[in-house]
Amino acid sequence: MDIIERGGDGFHHPSTQDELRALVRFAHDRGIKLRVMGSGHSVAGAILGAGGEDEIRVMLDRYVAVTWVEEHDDYAVVDVQAGCHLGRAPYDPTESSTWASSLNVQLQRKGYALDDLGGISHQTVSGFLSTGSSGGSLTFSVEDNLLGFTFIDGTGKVHRARADAEGEERDLFDAVGVSMGLLGVISEVRLRVRKTFNVVGKQVTSSTGADCAVDLFGAGDGRPSLTQYLRDTGYTRLMWWPQHDFGRIQMWEANRVDPTPDFEVKPYLELGRMPRLASLAGSLLYTIIGNLDDLSVVPDKLVNWRRHLEGSLEGEPDPDACPHPDPSRGTAYSVGEVVAYLQKGLTAGLKRHPTLGEESSPARERSKGLIEAAVDAIEDAAHEVGDAIEDVLGWVLAKLIELVVDGALTFPLTQKLADWFKGELPDWIDEVLGIFVSEGTITFQDCWMCGLPMDNQMDDQLWPTDFTELWIPIERTGEVMCAMRDWYSGDGDPEVALARTGTFSCELYPARKSRFWMSPAYDSDVFRVDVFWFGLNAGDPATDFYPQFWELLKRFDFRPHWGKYLPPPDASWAAHYRRVLPRMADFLTLRAKLDPKGIFLTDYWAGHLGIE
Ligand SMILES: Cc1cc2nc3c(=O)[nH]c(=O)nc-3n(C[C@H](O)[C@H](O)[C@H](O)COP(=O)(O)OP(=O)(O)OC[C@H]3O[C@@H](n4cnc5c(N)ncnc54)[C@H](O)[C@@H]3O)c2cc1C
Repeated sequence: MDIIERGGDGFHHPSTQDELRALVRFAHDRGIKLRVMGSGHSVAGAILGAGGEDEIRVMLDRYVAVTWVEEHDDYAVVDVQAGCHLGRAPYDPTESSTWASSLNVQLQRKGYALDDLGGISHQTVSGFLSTGSSGGSLTFSVEDNLLGFTFIDGTGKVHRARADAEGEERDLFDAVGVSMGLLGVISEVRLRVRKTFNVVGKQVTSSTGADCAVDLFGAGDGRPSLTQYLRDTGYTRLMWWPQHDFGRIQMWEANRVDPTPDFEVKPYLELGRMPRLASLAGSLLYTIIGNLDDLSVVPDKLVNWRRHLEGSLEGEPDPDACPHPDPSRGTAYSVGEVVAYLQKGLTAGLKRHPTLGEESSPARERSKGLIEAAVDAIEDAAHEVGDAIEDVLGWVLAKLIELVVDGALTFPLTQKLADWFKGELPDWIDEVLGIFVSEGTITFQDCWMCGLPMDNQMDDQLWPTDFTELWIPIERTGEVMCAMRDWYSGDGDPEVALARTGTFSCELYPARKSRFWMSPAYDSDVFRVDVFWFGLNAGDPATDFYPQFWELLKRFDFRPHWGKYLPPPDASWAAHYRRVLPRMADFLTLRAKLDPKGIFLTDYWAGHLGIE
């Protein structure tokens, strides 16, 4: 059988359904694996198999057309080839993803929209759907846009599954909607898209306590409970910074408005008014904080950071900006400016510390000899340091960062300073995070495709983030919040607390119930707990960080987001999924029928789903 040649990147890049089908038939006839990669935003194991000559790997970057089937005043019907990206993927390995070819821009140009988007829009349409991804809404869901799938099963047979079908075809639709590539290769998706809309919203950052507009941990006390808030708000997501003494919540919310000719775009600025500088500074600080035990690994981890810094210096356009970028985002910065930004933020943060300014402060005592040695050893100190202890410490920390960026790791005090900083961090974490997460309200308004994916501006390279995301029936939101709060508190011990919270945030958002059998929102509105881990940290979140949350939230019958980190692939977790997903057994039966030779079944999925 003729198949298209494998590309130099190891992937096949079919451009027609026939070419795609031939690849599946080829894999079927030889009993070899075939896996498709979308934009690669899921954990690696969820996408590809073990590799090797015998695995066919497919990317659909040449299979991206959008065909207009019907156009009406208030809706349209489109057929979208599976490789089409929702928005632009800045780091698409084939470098073919553009705004112009994206589904969202093609819809928006003709006055239409999807009902919902996730926090980013870098995904392909089929990759996004295959793991059950969604944005934060109990009111709107992209499922409302889905009319049908065309997919090729493991024998090469083409199926069409319509949302409004009955009987077996209905089952096919409900099974393939979230299927992680295990039932077949999705070739095309038919969508009914609605009239375009804009969003108007705000983000309020407050403490998690009495000044929060929502009763986060209770049933409502004049303020709405969190469940009520999630139900009443069109689109929302909360970013929880649960660190010791910090306890902040950023509540992003937006509602739809009809477009008007005089609508003025005011983009959401997740990283403040100087997003590029804040992004460079934040990425650098997190990389250092995440590797304080061994700074020698940091220079290699700063490769992308340096490229971005150089990119900004050379005035390259911001890769993460929406088609109508904010002009401030193109500004260029030097290392000195990034470090100065951090020094200012750290010094201001330390000035807020309750006891550091006191002569008898234990932290002051602990740092004395070392800081004096550092000030003596680093030239020009006299010209740069103010007298106050916070100024000195802020300056020393900035110098430490500069030394690491310069690769001056042999400077005798570098690792000593890092060890000292690590010791103080549990007590200073709120001062450090305060640089990036300040209290207050910001407002924004934008078109749907730029406004809804609020995290598009968090660059994938500067902020590589790992996630585990656990979906829990919405009724249990309050209980889950209390369990998390109590766990995060570490019984009041700052060191235990920091080990449990980490230095990053935890995202909280809802999803509307889904008809798809394997969706973690199957038949139930859900509350989602998405735990972040900065990807350049030392250590492995799968063993060092996430198990605590899997154990803590197991009793709430969570269902996992299939594109993110999963608990270990053992029989007890597979049994858990079978218990909490009532149609999983049907899904597995259908899988065995549609893919009798298991060409789509990798060890990863066999292990996690308990498939023999
Ligand atoms: C920074 C970041 C932010 C995110 N934000 C959100 C969010 O807000 N909400 C949310 O729910 N999720 C979110 N995610 C998760 C993300 O939406 C999912 O991982 C999604 O599946 C990625 O889509 P992709 O195009 O990259 O597909 P991939 O990750 O490449 O693939 C996903 C799965 O689909 C399969 N697949 C891809 N194409 C096909 C096809 N044509 N036929 C059959 N199978 C196919 C793959 O084999 C794989 O199993 C985020 C992830 C990241 C990294």
